[in-house]
Amino acid sequence: MTDITKIERVAKLLKRERKLRLARLNDVYMKPIEGPTDRLVTSEKKDYIMLGSYSYLGLINHPEIKKAAKEAIDKYGTGAGGVRLLTGTLDLHKKLEKKIAEFKNTEDAVVYSSGYVTNEAILSSIFSKGDLIVIDRFAHASIYSGCILSKAEWTRFQHNDMEDLERILKENREKYNNIVIAVDGVYSMDGDVANMPEIIELAKKYDAFTMVDEAHAIGVLGETGKGVEEYFGLKKDDIDIKMGTLSKTIPSVGGYIAGKKELMTFLRYSSNPFIFSAALPPPSAAAALKAFEIIENEPERVKNVQNKAKEFIKGVKELGFDTLRSKDTAIIPVIIGTEVKTFRFANKMEKQGIIVPPVVYPAVPRDGGRLRCCVMATHTDEDMDRILKAFEKVGKELQII
Ligand code: PMP
Repeated sequence: MTDITKIERVAKLLKRERKLRLARLNDVYMKPIEGPTDRLVTSEKKDYIMLGSYSYLGLINHPEIKKAAKEAIDKYGTGAGGVRLLTGTLDLHKKLEKKIAEFKNTEDAVVYSSGYVTNEAILSSIFSKGDLIVIDRFAHASIYSGCILSKAEWTRFQHNDMEDLERILKENREKYNNIVIAVDGVYSMDGDVANMPEIIELAKKYDAFTMVDEAHAIGVLGETGKGVEEYFGLKKDDIDIKMGTLSKTIPSVGGYIAGKKELMTFLRYSSNPFIFSAALPPPSAAAALKAFEIIENEPERVKNVQNKAKEFIKGVKELGFDTLRSKDTAIIPVIIGTEVKTFRFANKMEKQGIIVPPVVYPAVPRDGGRLRCCVMATHTDEDMDRILKAFEKVGKELQII
C-alpha cells in the first residue's frame, strides 16, 4: 500500500512540523489546559496567566452559566437527539433564538451548532449562480469556506480599503443579480474593526447587501457589548445579515444568524446544517442563553474588558512593540516577525508564566508573525503588570525592542 503521508502537501507540512518540534519551538501548540480557560490556567502542573482566551468577559467559569448547563443536562439529557428541522429543536433553542434576536435588535435569529458552519450556511444557501460575494481579504476562514461552498462568484477587496471596495462594486454591479459585502466586525488576526459606516454607505449606493461576522465583537464593542451597531451608532436595519458565534464571549459552542423574520424562515427550511446536522446540545444552548443574560446583568464586565485592552495597548506600545491598528477590541496583535522568532517569543513568554498564542503564516503574512494577545475583563492590575514586564524582558532578549 502506498503511504498516504507521502502525499506532497502532507509531507511538506509534516517536515515543517518536525523542524519546529526538534527545536522545541511548537510546544506552545495544543498545550493541554487542565481546567477552565480563565485568566489563570494550569497546564502540566504549572500555573500561567492566560493571554489568549476568547472568553473576553471572563464568563467561562461563571457559576450561574455552569448551573444553567448542569440543569439542562438534568432536564434534557446530553444531546438534542436530532437535526433542528425534525426532532432536534428544543424549547431551549427557541428561547435562545429569541434572546439573540432581542440582543441584536432583529426580528428573529437562527442558531447552528458551530460558528464555522453558520458562515457556510449563510453564504451557501442564500447566494447562488448570478450573484457576487465581495469579502474583505482578511475575512475569517469560514467566510472563505462559505464562498467556496456557494454557487455564487466571489472576490476580495483589500483589507478595510473602501476605495478598493467601491472599485469592485462599480465594476461589477451591472454584471450580477445580487451582491453581498461580507466582513468581520472585528478581525481575528489584526484586532481592528470593519469600517461599517462606509461599507453600509457603499452598499446603499450600489444596491448591495451587507453581512457582518461579530464573533469577536459581541460583548466587547459598544457601550453595553451589543456589537458593531452600538459601537458606530448604526440604525437597526443598516446591516442585513448579522452573524455571531457562541464560542467566544459566550462561553459555549455554536453560531447564530440574526435578521429579518422571512430570511430566518428561509434558512430554517433551506440551509444544510439546519436540516442535516445535529442540533446544539442542551447544556450548550442553556449556557449560551444564560451568558446573554449575564452580559446584560453584569455590564461592568464590558467596561472592564475595554479598559484593560486600552491599558494593554498603551503598555506594549510604550515598550516599543507594533500592535498594528488594533483599537477598542480585546484582540491585540504584537508583531514579532519571522516564524522562528515568533515561536521563540511565545516559548519564552511561557517560561515567564504567560500563555500567549503565536500566529504565523499562512494565517498571517510570512513576516507578520505575531503573538495574538486576548485581553479579558477579569485580568487584574497585577496580571497586567506581570504581562508587560514579561514582554519587556523577552522583547529585549530577542532584540525586538
Ligand atoms: N468567525 C470568526 C471571525 C472567528 O474568529 C471564528 C472562530 N475562530 C469563527 C467565525 C468560527 O466560530 P466557531 O469557532 O464558533 O466555529
